[in-house]
This record gives sequence, structure tokens and C-alpha cells, in this order.
Amino acid sequence: MSVKNPEYDFKWCPGCGDFAVRRALEWALKARCERYDLPMTNNVIVTGIGCSGNLVHLLEGEQPFGFHGIHGRTLPIAFGIKASRPELNTVVIAGDGDFLSIGAEHIGPQAHRNINVTCIVIDNKIYGLTKGQASPTTSIGTETVSTPFGKIEEEVSPLSLYLALGVSFVGSHYTGRPRDLADLMDQAMEHRGFSIVHVASPCTTYNDTTELLRGNPKKGIQPLVWEIPEDHDYGSRRVAERLCRRSGVPLGLVYREQRPTFRDRLEEATRGSGEKRAQELLEAYVI
Ligand code: SF4
Repeated sequence: MSVKNPEYDFKWCPGCGDFAVRRALEWALKARCERYDLPMTNNVIVTGIGCSGNLVHLLEGEQPFGFHGIHGRTLPIAFGIKASRPELNTVVIAGDGDFLSIGAEHIGPQAHRNINVTCIVIDNKIYGLTKGQASPTTSIGTETVSTPFGKIEEEVSPLSLYLALGVSFVGSHYTGRPRDLADLMDQAMEHRGFSIVHVASPCTTYNDTTELLRGNPKKGIQPLVWEIPEDHDYGSRRVAERLCRRSGVPLGLVYREQRPTFRDRLEEATRGSGEKRAQELLEAYVI
């Protein structure tokens, strides 16, 4: 779709971090379209299931193409779009309960392929749409409706996971500074390869981390967010891994590596081979 459905009436709760992600994405898409003189429909937004998934219906202004997919399967959909329409800028929006649970199995294969897709992962450490169950990033010991005695599983460390799986661009930010978040999204979309921007975001209804993320000096609350130092060597995986072991939420580019994309390798592998007939390909499977 590339037009809004006037009957779609989902609303985010007041103060939800999804508002800031939406605004940052709108800015980043607009900047990209202006830079390359492209229509907004050169972009496709693929979302999964969860409060974040509704972002595809709630974008304001000129509309990109949108695909509201199924739970955990944003990456196969994005892969399909990119394989058939490589010229489209394909952006996945997914939550921690979608991307890092049922969807986690897709991260490694797409990272190995280095598909040219950008993922914005909105992490509020809870399942908000289904009313507050523990998600993969919920901290151990946290009481939720699904963990009434406290969560007994270790939480996932998303940034370390992305690095371990070979994601070629890893960024981290939060919803408190949407302009800076938009800049990071823009860098991720510019990256040729598989990029992820992980965004710490409050769920004001079931896990309100607004004050914890920003800090509150009057209450003696130190901010969870911290700036990545300017001299950080984001080209070194080892340095990036060390950075990700620090607690809190780093802000900025964590890791970036240039290597061929899936399409580059496909073109290289098939160059000059000529077209094989369907019969030939089928015969290769006959035992
Ligand atoms: Fe946002 Fe949480 Fe409300 Fe969902 S339940 S819209 S994540 S505040």
C-alpha cells in the first residue's frame, strides 16, 4: 500500500516511544528522497506484529509503500522485496518481542547474506500490544503478567548478538533525541549491506523507562544512555564487542564494515554463465 487506510484506528498510548521513532523515520526518509531526488514511493516499510507494527499505518505526510507483515517474519518479507525490486530502499520496523524472539532465527541468515536492508528495532523490553508479557530483552527477575515470580531467563544482549551474527552495520540510540536518531537511521540506510539501528524506547503503559533512560538529577537517577566516544574505532569488531559489554544504552554508531552484499555476490557468481534452461536445473535434482 502507499496510501493511508482512513478506517485504521489504532492509537499509541500517550508518551509511547514509537511516536519518536515514527518522526525520526519520516525525517530520515525525507532527507534521503531529497538527496537523491527520489519519490517517497522509492521506500518500502515492512513491519511485524506489535505496537511498533502499526507504525506503517501511522506515518504522516507523503506515504512510502508499506507492508504490515506477520509476527517475526519481517526479514523474509524484506528479503523478498529486495530480491525482486533491488532499487527500493527497504526498511524493517520491528519490536523486541517480534525481531528478537520468533524473528531471531532470521537475523543470522540475512546477516550472512548481507542483504541491503535496514532494520529499526524498537526495544521497550516488553510485549506491549498483548498487555505486558516478558520479552527476550526483559531483565532477569522482572515481574510481568507472564512472569509473576520474576523472569527466570537471562535477557538477550541485542547489540552483542548482532555483532556475533555478522551484521555489517550496528547502531544504537534511544527515543529521547529523535533528530540524532534520524541521522543514525540515515547512515544505516546509506550503508550498502545489512544494517540495524537498535532503539531503546519506553512503553509508558507496561514498562515506563522514560526517566531511567534520560536520568533525573533531582531524584538522583543517572541516565542509562551514554555517548559513544568520538574516537571509538567502529571499524573494529573487537572494539565494538568490548563497547557492547558496557551496561546502559550507547548512543551512535557501534560497528560498520564494508563487504559485498548478497546481490553483489549473486551477480558475480552468475556473470557470464548464461541462462540455464529450467529443464537443466530440474535435472540436477534427479538422483
Ligand atoms: Fe506504546 Fe506500550 Fe502503549 Fe504499546 S502498550 S502503544 S508500546 S506505550
